[in-house]
Amino acid sequence: MSDTKIIKSTCKSCHGTCGVLVTVENGQITRVEGNPDSLTRGTMCSKGQAAFQEVNNPNRLKYPLKRMGARGEGKWARISWDEALDMIGTKINEAKQQYGANSVVIGQGTGRGYDPFTIRLAGSIGTGNLMGPAHVCYLPRLLVFALMIGGRLFCDLHGWGGEYPKTIISWAKQMEVTNVDGEMGVWLLDTLEKTKNLVMVDPRSTRLSNRATQWLRVRPGTDAALALGMMNVIINEDLYDREFVTQWTYGFEKLRERVQEYPVKKVSEITWIPEEDIIKAARTFATEKPGCILIGEPLEAANNCIQTLRAILCLAAITGNIERPGSMMVWMPPAAGNLEAFGREVRLPEENRKNIIGGDKYKLCVLGRICHPETVFKQLKEGTSQVQAMHLQGTNPLLCYANTREVFDGLMNLPFLSVADLYMSPTAEYADIVLPVAHWLEMDAIWDDMAVFYIAAINKAVEPPGEAKPDSWIFNEIGRRVGPEHWFETMDDLWNHVLRKSGITFKEFQEKGYLACTGKDQVYYKYKTDYWKPGGGFRTKTGKIELYSTQLEGLGYDPLPYYLEPNESPYSTPELAKEYPLILSAGGRFPYFFHSQYRQLPWLRKLHPYPIVQIHPETAGNLGISEGDWVWIETPRGRIKQKAELLPTLDPRVTICQPHWWYPERPGPDHGLWEANANVLTASDLPFDPAIGASTFRALICKIYKAEEGE
Ligand code: SF4
Repeated sequence: MSDTKIIKSTCKSCHGTCGVLVTVENGQITRVEGNPDSLTRGTMCSKGQAAFQEVNNPNRLKYPLKRMGARGEGKWARISWDEALDMIGTKINEAKQQYGANSVVIGQGTGRGYDPFTIRLAGSIGTGNLMGPAHVCYLPRLLVFALMIGGRLFCDLHGWGGEYPKTIISWAKQMEVTNVDGEMGVWLLDTLEKTKNLVMVDPRSTRLSNRATQWLRVRPGTDAALALGMMNVIINEDLYDREFVTQWTYGFEKLRERVQEYPVKKVSEITWIPEEDIIKAARTFATEKPGCILIGEPLEAANNCIQTLRAILCLAAITGNIERPGSMMVWMPPAAGNLEAFGREVRLPEENRKNIIGGDKYKLCVLGRICHPETVFKQLKEGTSQVQAMHLQGTNPLLCYANTREVFDGLMNLPFLSVADLYMSPTAEYADIVLPVAHWLEMDAIWDDMAVFYIAAINKAVEPPGEAKPDSWIFNEIGRRVGPEHWFETMDDLWNHVLRKSGITFKEFQEKGYLACTGKDQVYYKYKTDYWKPGGGFRTKTGKIELYSTQLEGLGYDPLPYYLEPNESPYSTPELAKEYPLILSAGGRFPYFFHSQYRQLPWLRKLHPYPIVQIHPETAGNLGISEGDWVWIETPRGRIKQKAELLPTLDPRVTICQPHWWYPERPGPDHGLWEANANVLTASDLPFDPAIGASTFRALICKIYKAEEGE
């Protein structure tokens, strides 16, 4: 007789938090589908549906391993968890004693509910050197929101205040493909039924373009100019929200002066968008209200990311699209609070926070509590680094940071490296200790969504393979060895501690599924109440939305947004552009993978077996390239090979390749990363964003040519 169970859980195959139902038949997962009774209303993407192919994947790591041969030689010995964890704990404690706490780096990848754990672990060691890709992904947004508003903004796609957005700008974002950063695809698609205008800003057409009322095909890396040009129109045509601006913003007159430097004609020349389209989009956003702007990651992987985001947020602010129903909102958390507090309740010594690697130059890194990864690897490579021990969890720096060669050279100089992952990734191949991690289908946990307004339960469907353990357990066990006063006897103690404000236990929470603050519990126009400040106002120094940022000014940065030409372009490096004539966005997202993940999953790999570079048919024709040809993409740093896809909606001068590619099926230690990974093309010797140190992935230059047979 078959034994069938349905487990309610939450997907974390990206950081989207989709509610799921997992069917388990005779101990095997046979199906993962959306849960109609969850906040994501039964929807899922391909990555989540294929997630159960991770569970029995023969390539999963099953036991803790210790390196026996030279780095990357592939010689490993199975060891016990105690031995592995004791070794990691000892190396961290020794480094801390001999070289100070900041000689330890704790690293993570994208937010998967364990951000609070990496923050807490770093805090309990006392190191400020928390490392992740956050400086090119999401943290710039959070910091800009904090600098200007004092809270974290999201598009109000919910209608809880009685109105939906009349105009949505989707700026460098593909929410229809993947649910990320707290604004879920299902919420957008449902909201679009009620939205009059959808303005897309993207160098290429996407699935959502069909529903757009206007598409601005922007030259990669010029988005700040576009936002400033739109504000030029809105301010000069007197279309801004005078009452809101006067009462609730700071520095408007200075912003008015700044945008005069960006007349539409000039902006059109910079962005390659026709003047009339810029004017139309500006008028639409200013007059068809309420409106909101979905902001995507490509804006952050650029040499001017902070000011680009500042310009976009100024656009929302001067049109009064903040905190009103259907605009951009700071959501209130559920009564239980968020997991975030769990990380931050361990105080980091101020001295160590200030002295993080790269923080002297990229001062917003200090504010955001992350070190600057490119500086970490450069110093390691050059032999000038203070770093003695690095623990990485759920991250693959050889694929994901700029300039793979430098990351590799840095890793090879690192005295001690431990990596926790599901698979033997190219980075894990070079570690001293490798720890096997349980998949989300194999663990009990609390998942803190990015939208802030809910926390959700991850409930175990099956046991992990071998001795694999949940991330949270691994953090707790390392924590118990390096800062025991901050960690817990049991995982139930830990989760109950997280939930203590809610009045329910972890077990009760698991049954409930999620805790949320939705509907009438959310408060709009909070700045008119005492919520942030007695008597009203925003949580900033001036109590207003800082169009002119007093904090940036205090740190020595330009307090007003401006445009900066990409480091490499036909305009900034015209000589180099003769050899590398195409503009390259080295990071185009595709539906089946999340960064360097999921190349192991049969369903997804069948749908997308190779890396793809998109080229305009005319450009391809001139280069003798046909659809499906293998081509080399070359920049001054190196070259990689991907398959050509001809995309007629691209500008013929622009090309978009896929990031983070490797071939898990190929032999280690490299698994094809030097052949396919776009970060072979990216740079760590070009100027980073001056405030946060973001590297440029989305606006480089390259040449493309057909690969010869057998190359
Ligand atoms: S969008 Fe993210 S969370 Fe949702 S199903 Fe896909 S991978 Fe899972």
